[in-house]
Amino acid sequence: MNSSIDEKLAPVFNEIIRRNPGEIEFHQAVREVLESLGPVLVKYPEFAHHKIIERICEPERQIIFRVPWTDDRNQVQINRGFRVEFNSALGPYKGGLRFHPSVYLGIVKFLGFEQIFKNALTGLPIGGGKGGSDFDPKGKSDSEVMRFCQSFMTELYRHIGEHTDVPAGDIGVGGREIGYMFGQYKRITNRYEAGVITGKGLDWGGSLVRTEATGYGNVFFVKKMLEVRHETIEGKTCIVSGSGNVSIYTIEKVHELGGKVVACSDSDGYIYHKDGIDLEVVKQLKEKERRRIKDYLEYHSEARYLEKGNIWEVPCDIAFPSATQNELNGKDAALLVKNGCMAVGEGANMPTTPEGVKVFQEANILYAPGKAANAGGVATSTLEMMQNASRDSWTFAYTEDKLSTIMTNIHDLCYEKSEEFGAPGNYVLGANIAGFIRVANAMLAMGV
Ligand code: GLU
Repeated sequence: MNSSIDEKLAPVFNEIIRRNPGEIEFHQAVREVLESLGPVLVKYPEFAHHKIIERICEPERQIIFRVPWTDDRNQVQINRGFRVEFNSALGPYKGGLRFHPSVYLGIVKFLGFEQIFKNALTGLPIGGGKGGSDFDPKGKSDSEVMRFCQSFMTELYRHIGEHTDVPAGDIGVGGREIGYMFGQYKRITNRYEAGVITGKGLDWGGSLVRTEATGYGNVFFVKKMLEVRHETIEGKTCIVSGSGNVSIYTIEKVHELGGKVVACSDSDGYIYHKDGIDLEVVKQLKEKERRRIKDYLEYHSEARYLEKGNIWEVPCDIAFPSATQNELNGKDAALLVKNGCMAVGEGANMPTTPEGVKVFQEANILYAPGKAANAGGVATSTLEMMQNASRDSWTFAYTEDKLSTIMTNIHDLCYEKSEEFGAPGNYVLGANIAGFIRVANAMLAMGV
């Protein structure tokens, strides 16, 4: 198992740390990919000759901008906006926007870096990018969110386009925010350029299944992993951290396939409901009313709410970390394994710390890294772009079938690569190598 950086790559990694001081999440994401690449450079020495790794770790363009807006008390507020256009070897930059107070350049770069390989794994023509702001949507009125989104797009519009860079949602950015941003783009440019942003509403260029895609895709991926061990989701007890878009549709698909999700959470605590989470209640609270998960008890007093509790202490067969980066550490992973967890599918980006990943791998449980397991979201964004380009709209069943095929292909590709490089079933290695080779070959073909 490769859990350290090859000695030839160590100086490359040290230089990346030196050039990007303080960006710890970015360092973490780069380290994880570089740990997989030693054997790739032996097999393909041309990648080293052309400095592909050094080039892939340096964003093509990084944009940082001021986002001024007025709040409901008529006070001027200032946030910082980001868009990191990381790699365009395979297509226009593609990746979401995150609005959360924790956002700074290091977070956007880690997400953009992951996105390069994730997008490559889909086999679709999309490069990697990411953006966002330290704006906190929590507690803001609808009109404050609108004014913020409009101001954000007033700068961002000049950098994006259907053939250039195509943003979408991420934490804190859903259908409402995409609507306000698309509206502002259309107003400024006088173009109905539907393919400039994805996650749009169904009546104005959006795609069926886009809302469900990340969660559904993760469950499809885990289903394929389980098949390798002659297992199914049916009858399995599952836990899903978070209660946003990814979590909700993970729960929905697990229930459809006969599994039972007994816990979900938000940043305040988690709900445990041994009869199975009532998804309609979670949808009502989170999608419609923007309330907290503890209010679940108003509907189900028999459930339990654990304020500040650690969801990973709930025994389960399958865990779906679907909240945020580094939400599951080494101790949590050890607890999951001890309680009999057999599979982990990451709905969030980099939710497991390196220590946690190590625990899963040493225990030889099925572990799907986010860049493979949560690729269904961006893949379906690309299906949305296809429909926009052909002025078409596909049925739910047709689109879901395409998503399912894409997830199966990603699974099989990662598995094949893990076998080829001597660690069958190591999906971290498989995903990093498969994604990297696709991007690297394109960069090689296009010259320096
Ligand atoms: N933010 C999602 C991700 O992490 C989706 C990006 C997109 O649809 O472009 O992949």
